[in-house]
Amino acid sequence: MKCFTVTTKVEEGIRVGRTTAPFDASKVVPAVLVGEHGRGRKLHQCPVEGALVSDENARIDRADLVKRGSFGPVFVPEEVRDDRRAIVLVAVPAGFRGGVRFTAASKSRKPCPARQSTTLPNSECFEKLADGSKKCQLCGTAWIEKDVAASEAAGEDWWANQRHPDSGEALMFDSFPPEGVTVVAEGYVAQGDAGRMGGNAEYLLILKPGAGFRARRAGRLYGAPAEVFVRWDGENLVLSNEDPSASKGPVERL
Ligand SMILES: [Zn+2]
Repeated sequence: MKCFTVTTKVEEGIRVGRTTAPFDASKVVPAVLVGEHGRGRKLHQCPVEGALVSDENARIDRADLVKRGSFGPVFVPEEVRDDRRAIVLVAVPAGFRGGVRFTAASKSRKPCPARQSTTLPNSECFEKLADGSKKCQLCGTAWIEKDVAASEAAGEDWWANQRHPDSGEALMFDSFPPEGVTVVAEGYVAQGDAGRMGGNAEYLLILKPGAGFRARRAGRLYGAPAEVFVRWDGENLVLSNEDPSASKGPVERL
């Protein structure tokens, strides 16, 4: 399988680091590191068989992954040359003091997550229309609103009477990992000594041809795009900062 690394861009190959041997701490062995070691962090070390590593700064361009009992995944020299899947190390960084949310790249209609929401000041939930009424930004359903004076007269919290009805469907990204994407290892990198400032999961994935995913970066991005769409077409790993399916509208001849 071809190997790639995804950060905010796609690089061919996966970098090999060093780790102590699992059954002999005096030995240092090559490994692909997913995540990092430390407080609020999680490191998954995937050993790399010697024949794949020629020098200190080695990168793996092609490999197979195997499991040895409960141990693995282990990178081994490729035996199946016509395996059209890809091995992808995903290390999309969180923005400063932020995180990364992973989803499928596809969308489907789901119950609106803002149903029954009463978080009135949550401006992400609704949009105020010209007549003063409110509409959910996710699903377009009108919010239920009671008059402030009437609510107070009835001894009710007026804000609790301003809520999203228990209905409405929104077009939402499907959950991760989607069909065709297998998570073979997971780690976590974090910001700050205690790891509480922000951070993100890192994954080692196997992608079937046609499979992909989306990562949404949060936190301070200093102008960098928040959305990362990745798709493996069987030959190339393609990264886009815009939803590729959003441009699949009807074609208009100019
Ligand atoms: Zn809604």
